[in-house]
Amino acid sequence: MDNKEFRKYGHELVDWMAGYLDEIRKYPVKAQTKPGEIIAQLPLSPPRQGEPMDAIIADFKKIILPGMTHWQHPGFFAYFNANNSYPSILAEMLTAAMGAQCMSWQTSPAATELEERVMEWTAKLVGLPGDFTGVIQDTASTATLCSLLSAREKYSDFKINEKGFAGGNKYAIYCSTEAHSSIEKAVKIAGFGRESLRRIDVDKDFAIIPAALEAEIKKDKQAGFLPLIMVAACGTTGSTAVDPLGEVGEICRRYDLWLHVDAAYAGTGLILPEKRWMIDGIEHADTFVFNPHKWMFTNFDCSAYFVKDKGALIRTFEILPEYLKTKEGKQVNNYRDWGIQLGRRFRALKLWFVIRHFGVEGLREKIAAHVKWARDFAAGIEAAPDFELLAPVPLSTICFRYSPAGIKEKEVLNTLNARLLEALNGTGKIYLTHTKLNGIYTIRLVIGQTGQQETDVKEAWELIRRTAARELEDTL
Ligand SMILES: *Cc1c(COP(=O)(O)O)cnc(C)c1O
Repeated sequence: MDNKEFRKYGHELVDWMAGYLDEIRKYPVKAQTKPGEIIAQLPLSPPRQGEPMDAIIADFKKIILPGMTHWQHPGFFAYFNANNSYPSILAEMLTAAMGAQCMSWQTSPAATELEERVMEWTAKLVGLPGDFTGVIQDTASTATLCSLLSAREKYSDFKINEKGFAGGNKYAIYCSTEAHSSIEKAVKIAGFGRESLRRIDVDKDFAIIPAALEAEIKKDKQAGFLPLIMVAACGTTGSTAVDPLGEVGEICRRYDLWLHVDAAYAGTGLILPEKRWMIDGIEHADTFVFNPHKWMFTNFDCSAYFVKDKGALIRTFEILPEYLKTKEGKQVNNYRDWGIQLGRRFRALKLWFVIRHFGVEGLREKIAAHVKWARDFAAGIEAAPDFELLAPVPLSTICFRYSPAGIKEKEVLNTLNARLLEALNGTGKIYLTHTKLNGIYTIRLVIGQTGQQETDVKEAWELIRRTAARELEDTL
């Protein structure tokens, strides 16, 4: 392809992208594809000769697009969002065109310095205290692993990096039973072993019970373990439950534990000052992560990771072979030393575009609307005699089930709700996912897709009620 052709196809594809996003409602939000359906259409071997772009684009439309789940569809209420937005997409295009690998200051000074400033903006946006320093990681999973590794090194006086675990302390790591699976993964990867993870009970609202945490820490100390790190959930994945950071933080301080706060989804909610109660006690935290790539209109991947002691982070990861030495040395940030990977994408650009495009007030307005629609939706559930709200709604995720009069058995209700979810997702109009809370099959509805309107939420509720009544009829 020469530059002229690139220009031609570039224009053509931008037109296609605008059309796609404009007409996205015409697609089924969840791919209605059977396993193997896509791969069966793909040749077993790569083409010997290069193919014309027209053929490649035609196959994208014919083969790939029908197998996509449309995460930017306003009927997307599943998992947590992975939002994009027009400014974010434009920035990603520029990033792709420049194709810079931003591992060190010298490999693109602007990428490093923009990241530094945009992370300062982001800290202010969510109300973090001024003593946190930010760095962009790919995902919250990686950020949490960085916290476990930094804590491991700091508390072992950086010995495990040198000598491995041999003969050292037996560490214990804490989180609630509702905490995200990425913590268990990080415990495994960091070499602690899954048995080192203590899952602490939660209260009726699915937030950790601080007294239970303290009791477990005491027990571990008596048994010769070194309590190392507590990962508090600010918005669990199941129901967006908020661990009480103040009480948890005081316990961490008393027993000298590292406190990491996982606010992957909920962090965006902190843009609203009235939601800042969720991080009361943040002064006790050592590290904090949230994902602008979830609810903050920024293309995946972009995870904002904040640390109090950047020295511990850098000392955990830094390595300086001859071929990476640069003359700027310590005057500048070399983000390759602030995490696991060497090579880094230029992620700050899209975040900068997004924050500048919406402004603080624009972001607040959108997030506040999502929170309000969620409150209204939850009120609708509570007012409906045949539906049941299963968890508090601090943000924009509603956990509920259909529980029509006359059906009391848990298993029967679980099956009915699983069928309801299947039926809803089969309509192609909305996409919802589920979790289990206290063994109860729970339907989750997450509001917050970038283009979503209040009418989308209202129509979803109508569709849910109609479909539920039909499923019940089929049961009887
Ligand atoms: C989504 C989520 C994660 C994982 O996020 P990734 O960026 O995909 O790794 C971690 N913790 C919580 C609470 C989440 O909701």
